[in-house]
Amino acid sequence: MSARDHNSISALVEQLLQQLGEDPTRSGLQKTPDRVARSLLFLTRGYQQNVEELIHGATFEQEYDEMIVLRDIDLYSLCEHHLLPFYGKCHIAYIPRRHVIGLSKLPRIVDVFSRRLQLQERLTREIANCLDEHLHPWGVAVVIEALHLCMAMRGVEKQNAYVVTSEMLGAFRTKASTRAEFLHFIRGSK
Ligand code: ZN
Repeated sequence: MSARDHNSISALVEQLLQQLGEDPTRSGLQKTPDRVARSLLFLTRGYQQNVEELIHGATFEQEYDEMIVLRDIDLYSLCEHHLLPFYGKCHIAYIPRRHVIGLSKLPRIVDVFSRRLQLQERLTREIANCLDEHLHPWGVAVVIEALHLCMAMRGVEKQNAYVVTSEMLGAFRTKASTRAEFLHFIRGSK
């Protein structure tokens, strides 16, 4: 990710406005290229964030081996096919083997992976794998429920269809009762 130059992006947005038949010099649009460039850089800042750095020093040993669930984490991302937002909730659970992570880090991990161009399926997997690799827990579960504006706005007629994806690792994959307990915890959310 070398090129993330505000001025280059801004110039491209100005061209885009022209190509769309707009007049970038009219008063309402004069600052738009600059704003869009700033906004895009913000919405894709996950490329410049390092999840190792984020997690480093935030895990600690604790004798706790029950399920830890954090549900309803706000999630905003951009679909890589249309560059339109998809947004919703992320639910995370894990069963620590030895290491736990500060709870406030979970939404930040979600943020690092969602502030990029994404596919919901991949985003779900990346969050689960990240926790699996860094905590080596008995199991990790991630569920994302999201509304895709590329579906809602482009007349696919699934205006309020939530896309639900899940990734279950370890005990959540092998034990039906563990998975059921997690799904019970997150039911009624949204
Ligand atoms: Zn899309």
